[in-house]
Amino acid sequence: MLKKGTKCRICKNKGKNNKAVVFLSHHRLALCKEHFIEWFEKRVEKTIKEFKMFKKSERILVAVSGGKDSLALWNVLYKLGYEADGLYIDLGIGDYSENSKILAKNFADRIKRKLHIVSLKEQLYTIPTIKDFTNRPACSSCGVVKRYYMNRYAKELGYSVVATGHNLDDETAVLFGNTLQWDLKYLSRQYPVLLEEEGFVRKVKPLCKITEKESAIYSVFNNIEYIEYECPFSEGASSIEYKTLLNQLEEKHPGTKLKFYSEFLKKIYPIFKELQKEDKISLMKCRICGEPSYSEVCGVCRLKMLVDKKVKTN
Ligand code: SF4
Ligand code: ZN
Ligand code: ZN
Repeated sequence: MLKKGTKCRICKNKGKNNKAVVFLSHHRLALCKEHFIEWFEKRVEKTIKEFKMFKKSERILVAVSGGKDSLALWNVLYKLGYEADGLYIDLGIGDYSENSKILAKNFADRIKRKLHIVSLKEQLYTIPTIKDFTNRPACSSCGVVKRYYMNRYAKELGYSVVATGHNLDDETAVLFGNTLQWDLKYLSRQYPVLLEEEGFVRKVKPLCKITEKESAIYSVFNNIEYIEYECPFSEGASSIEYKTLLNQLEEKHPGTKLKFYSEFLKKIYPIFKELQKEDKISLMKCRICGEPSYSEVCGVCRLKMLVDKKVKTN
């Protein structure tokens, strides 16, 4: 917690007396608004360089949901001088999608960058329809569909990298879940950069060392309007339970999340990566849409066939 009257560390070092407005307990750092923004942007830039995510010469497609993380990410990339446009996938989830689309469009207008919009209603089926006609939880179909269109549109529109707004809280919650299950397949892919391979563009997570709270503060300080409520399907998701548990630990022991994630990347991931090399499944092309797939028909075409069949018999 920020104690009353605490001064910004950077201002203090420069002989100024500005009050701190943010205290980053896991970094033991108290900062004023200006220096928090500077700290945040430098941290993202450092992460991009540390993991060799992309260069200034590359065209980046930011997967924009209208939430604080993806908009904060787009703002940082824009300010750092990267060539970054947005992709909004309209999932057709009622007001949630309508409102988040407006916010994504407003932000694109503000920074004068292109926002590509993909409508699931036109391309496939909306997430509520897919959920109603399959027995799968909305989020598992949504994940497959989003990954598919992000990759497909990035290729079609000539971007070599897709950047998503996954933050430290997201990454540690997934890591925690995968560790509880000892899910080696997912653990061996949990890295902030997934390199391009046949039919897949590179995917990166530049906010992986930024907490959810930090990205919310950054968005507020930059007057970024973002969707403040969660998708209605997120209720009851186990990742939310894991986030709550990890936040309780973080409160008692600041730095727990960052340590859990960073040490995994440093010490454990290299071991799992080697294992992955041994059981690498070869990629093929989906016989329906031609997109890369680990089976004869890709996940999205399978979903489409399933819903088509149910719609016809209804
Ligand atoms: Fe999709 Fe689930 Fe996220 Fe909603 S909560 S946007 S359904 S993944
Ligand atoms: Zn300061
Ligand atoms: Zn397909």
